[in-house]
Amino acid sequence: MKRTPAQPAAAVIGGGMSGLVAARELATAGFAVTVLEASQRLGGSVHAHEVAGLSLDAGAESFATRTTAVADLLEELGLADDIEYPAAGDAWLQTPNAVRKLPSTGVLGIPADPLAPDVKAVIGQTAALRAAADLAAPVSKHLTDGAMSLGELVRNRMGHAVLDSLVTPVVSGVHSADPDALDVDAVAPGLRAAVVKHGSLARAVGSMRQAAPAGSAVGSLTGGMHRLTAALVEELTDRGVDVRTGARVSRLAAREDEYTVVWSETEEALAVSRVVIATDGPSAVDLAAQLDPDLAVYRPEPGAGVSLVTLVLDYPELDVAPRGNGVLVAPETEGIGAKALTHATAKWQWLAAEAGPGTQVLRLSYGRLSERHARLADADDETLYHAAVSDASALLDVDVTEQDVLGWDVIRHRGALPFATTGHRQRVDAFRAALAKHRRLDAVGGWLSGTGLAAVVADARARTRITAR
Ligand SMILES: Cc1cc2nc3c(=O)[nH]c(=O)nc-3n(C[C@H](O)[C@H](O)[C@H](O)COP(=O)(O)OP(=O)(O)OC[C@H]3O[C@@H](n4cnc5c(N)ncnc54)[C@H](O)[C@@H]3O)c2cc1C
Repeated sequence: MKRTPAQPAAAVIGGGMSGLVAARELATAGFAVTVLEASQRLGGSVHAHEVAGLSLDAGAESFATRTTAVADLLEELGLADDIEYPAAGDAWLQTPNAVRKLPSTGVLGIPADPLAPDVKAVIGQTAALRAAADLAAPVSKHLTDGAMSLGELVRNRMGHAVLDSLVTPVVSGVHSADPDALDVDAVAPGLRAAVVKHGSLARAVGSMRQAAPAGSAVGSLTGGMHRLTAALVEELTDRGVDVRTGARVSRLAAREDEYTVVWSETEEALAVSRVVIATDGPSAVDLAAQLDPDLAVYRPEPGAGVSLVTLVLDYPELDVAPRGNGVLVAPETEGIGAKALTHATAKWQWLAAEAGPGTQVLRLSYGRLSERHARLADADDETLYHAAVSDASALLDVDVTEQDVLGWDVIRHRGALPFATTGHRQRVDAFRAALAKHRRLDAVGGWLSGTGLAAVVADARARTRITAR
């Protein structure tokens, strides 16, 4: 960007979704912006890969529609007409004993009606009665004070069967972590307050479902979610923003009203009046602590890694989508290493049309839920590929062989899903309060806003709009 003499300069560290959105806000506010991205590609977890000639999402493939945050951004970028909603297929649940449709009226797998037939079908009559005790049991003060894990809340109110068979598969699919390790306020904001208000977890879930907008819970873009990254980068470049890849920021220093940002082995440096750190949590705190050592205490644990295996199959029998849009897997299910399978060609019409009849795109994700799972998630590509072929066969009840495979790929998202351990929300609030002392420095990203594009986009916009002044 050609800088006019009066124009202040800003650096955005990290070119994932939060960094690109922050850069857009800063450019709108009149800053000469430089985006510094460590890797060779932009978008972070939102980028494309090609498998068997198809351009596919290598990470995030949809956005939550509970708010208009992403849809608004897509509209501003001229992409509103390309928003697509998933086909009306069910989600399925594989437990150690059976595969069934996932009860549909929950939040993170927590049922709004513990006695509903589809809930009983998964957990059984006795466990459903135990879960329904939540409707009558008083809400103890312990449930509302201090930090608490999602697992503790669910077990306390509804019992372990709901936790193990319904909540754990959903939560591990989304967050790649055990509900007992996750901060309830970080992964389900507002849930505890709703429990207090309605006097029951089931009623709290029901009220949250009612408050959600009608229609599909998620949307995406024809052609894939990665088009959002491409559109943002194109717009930023057109507006003169200097977008650099291969630029890992290693040092941050402050002198009076100026920051110096240093990146790459060549130690290139830039002086700016405003900095937004948009990296993962550990990197963000390490950088911020160079300016203010007191911030070091807020360093979060590294995020849970996910390995994503994509299979493109020639398998016409799967055109009927036997497991709807996909299957979530209870971690204790023996013989299956994947935590989730998405039947992408069943879920997205644009992709089915592009792939053509008989061609299937399957995405299987492997996380670190137990030692067994972690060994597989960290295995070499060939091992993961063979596991995916075997898991796809078991989960879809077919017999996929290597002759059916038109192409495959493994994408590793290391540290990508922030690990929101118990107390995370409080630590995030404290970090942001401590950071507020530095008026021209801010931090955005999924580790602060919560995982998911809806949260990341809304938070990055709101934060940088304030700091852009
Ligand atoms: C496999 C997977 C599937 C997902 N699916 C969905 C989905 O379907 N729907 C949904 O809403 N959400 C989904 N998510 C979550 C969503 O993608 C993330 O919440 C969001 O993209 C996070 O954006 P971010 O900018 O905070 O972080 P990131 O995408 O992690 O970007 C951070 C960037 O900072 C860079 N960086 C780090 N350190 C430095 C440094 N020192 N200097 C310069 N750059 C640095 C990194 O290279 C990276 O590009 C998924 C995530 C994963 C991993």
